[in-house]
Amino acid sequence: MSRRLESASGMQALMADSFRECDAAARDPAGRVAWCSSVGPVELLRALGFAVFFPENHAAMLGASRLATDLIPTATAEGYSPDVCSYMTSDIGAWRRGVTALSRVDPSIARVPRPDVLVYDTNQCRDVLDWFSFYGRQYGVPVIGVAAPRGVGVVTGELVAAVAAQIRALVPPLEAIAGRRMDPDVLARVVAVSRDTSVLWRKVLSCGEARPSPLTFFDGCVHMGPAVVLRGDERAKAYYEGLLAELEGRVAAGEAAVDGERVRLYWEGMPIWGRLRQVSELLAGLRASVVGSTYCSSWVFDGLDPDAPFDSMARAAVELFISRSDAVKEGILAAEARRYGVHGIVFHDAKTCPNNSNCRYGMPGRLLRGAGVPSVVLHSDLNDLRLHADEGVRLALEAFVEQCAEAS
Ligand code: SF4
Repeated sequence: MSRRLESASGMQALMADSFRECDAAARDPAGRVAWCSSVGPVELLRALGFAVFFPENHAAMLGASRLATDLIPTATAEGYSPDVCSYMTSDIGAWRRGVTALSRVDPSIARVPRPDVLVYDTNQCRDVLDWFSFYGRQYGVPVIGVAAPRGVGVVTGELVAAVAAQIRALVPPLEAIAGRRMDPDVLARVVAVSRDTSVLWRKVLSCGEARPSPLTFFDGCVHMGPAVVLRGDERAKAYYEGLLAELEGRVAAGEAAVDGERVRLYWEGMPIWGRLRQVSELLAGLRASVVGSTYCSSWVFDGLDPDAPFDSMARAAVELFISRSDAVKEGILAAEARRYGVHGIVFHDAKTCPNNSNCRYGMPGRLLRGAGVPSVVLHSDLNDLRLHADEGVRLALEAFVEQCAEAS
């Protein structure tokens, strides 16, 4: 792993507090818990006083702790194909087996917090709806959300208005479940905090433009926690102020995340959660630094506007990288490669997530021919390590780093 950031311990404490708050809300008869997809309309939920739990974050924890692979067959036995999202199958398997990754953070937390409502946005994939519908049936609670467009080329006013109308339509049922009315001033404040947090998170990630880079994609995967689970909460904003200061200090001191950085790479696609440390250490050993990623940038919503909360939330949902057309994604990747000054791109073809694997329809070749950016494809998965081969990944990365080093 690259050099540990001092802010890490504060981040872990913050995440633990958030899980404890969800647990306490679920056990309090007056508390209300909403489960939300990771790029769903969390600002509405916070403004209505829900404790918010993110199943994708939980699934990533199952992957990072290497529990996931063993849990997936339980969901498969229930009829969920081993080919569909392994976040979903590992999470459902964990629930069926009475296991939660939250217990590893705080042993007093025995189970995931019981939801009062589940709120999704299909801007990322249909799997979140299937996933949430499983829990809707188990708990007998509503599953509501936004059916956002996918494969978006030009973001038109009509598209944004259609999604904004769907977000507005969530307010009455959420008010009924929360037992309170939406206060527009509170919503504006939450959106402002989300926006400020996003701006800081973008600045954190942009520190990767420095040479040498003070952080890697692997650091980003760890430190993005508050940007996901505490978006709209002042504590996330405060956390990223501290992290940004630490990184700017590293940049000023010329301190590298990877000693002797000689090759700079960009990561496209999902992390391999169960091998995060190993891949990080492998690349650090090769003096290759992964300085940017589409994945960590997925939680940058700095266009949020407290004066136009619904429209700006809709625009953020439609503009999201994962929901764009291949042509738009290709343009973004070429621009990102220039901005970060990378030698090449590592595409992760995550076998159970076609939605966030962008190398299957010729994009690597087009980027090489059109923008002169070489790449390598890793065949693996986000959570199912049965689809991962350590040796194959090692050989592919070693060869690619040498190719990049020779070309520079
Ligand atoms: S985007 Fe991929 S990893 Fe995320 S929920 Fe959808 S299928 Fe699963």
